[in-house]
Amino acid sequence: MVRAKVKYLPVKIKNRPEYRMAYWDIDSGREGPCLLVTAALHGNEVQGSEAIRRFCPMAEKKILKGRILLVPFANPLALWNRRPHIVSTLAEPFGKEEKDNINRTWPGDPDGNESEQVAHIFFNDFFKKVAPTYYIDLHCYNRFTLACSLADEKHPESIEFAEAAAFPIRRLFSWDQVKGKEEKKGLSSTNHKKFSLPQWIRDNGGTAFAVEFSGQYEITEKEVQRGVRMLCNCAKYTGIFRGRLEGMNDKPMIYREGRETRMIAVKAPVAGLFAENGFSNGDFVRKGDLLGTLFDDKTLKTIKIKAPMEGYLYLYGSTRKRCDVDLAAMHPYSDKDGILASIISDTGKKIKKSGKRR
Ligand SMILES: [Zn+2]
Repeated sequence: MVRAKVKYLPVKIKNRPEYRMAYWDIDSGREGPCLLVTAALHGNEVQGSEAIRRFCPMAEKKILKGRILLVPFANPLALWNRRPHIVSTLAEPFGKEEKDNINRTWPGDPDGNESEQVAHIFFNDFFKKVAPTYYIDLHCYNRFTLACSLADEKHPESIEFAEAAAFPIRRLFSWDQVKGKEEKKGLSSTNHKKFSLPQWIRDNGGTAFAVEFSGQYEITEKEVQRGVRMLCNCAKYTGIFRGRLEGMNDKPMIYREGRETRMIAVKAPVAGLFAENGFSNGDFVRKGDLLGTLFDDKTLKTIKIKAPMEGYLYLYGSTRKRCDVDLAAMHPYSDKDGILASIISDTGKKIKKSGKRR
């Protein structure tokens, strides 16, 4: 058995006392790939942190070769703030100031804002030095949205690596597009070219993908178990562990890969209190399944809300803008036409060249 060593990255930014970012280094002492996993770059996205904590003792036992680096809290200042960014305040939306989003600042800036300064230290003193062969970045969507893995659409290795995660949905994503958008909006306060960490890995000969668990500001057993399975699968995929990948029979739905998908929003016919019927996002529902009941506060009537088609629950629950930011936005009282669920299915058709993505 290999012991995981606790190591530290010292972080000193302007007008803050120095702190240390703790991480585990599990080195087999044998040649092989290096797998890096980071979680909680956004301080309210902590499902992956718990998955990493449970995965670490498994890694100590099962590592055959190479090295595993686990960073459960990649952005401690945001964690201590219990919100997405270092400077986020009460009920402030995630994207209010894009410059505060550490994930839009790479490679960071020693003279920039606090997120940019932290990014600069993390990237130069840790990430670039490690230069892992494989990298997984763990995030969380709000609790109404299903978990998915995000692979790089331009990198077949990334798509294959993300498949090992066995998540309900695998989305394809253009990392380059992220960069392009930021630059277009003039968000960059430096002369550096912005990039995402998975993109840097790809451009430096490695393979990466990102994960979105379901649920911010919380730790749920379902997501953590999904996360531990994903980490074990990915360690097996890289050859660091031995064994067969698990959960590969529940074929993930691929969202955008030359295939046409259909998404239907289930809306409230009247305003009322929406009581869910025990499903959770990512579940497969059949046409006619009872998704929940709507309790009309004006007439006290009950309205049954049924699935209009079969497919996966992409969204489930009375959900609206800023859910998981403001408690009121998580309230089960829906306005008329409020979204109660969203169902996605694969039409089985290929997207025509001129066809728009849905
Ligand atoms: Zn995130």
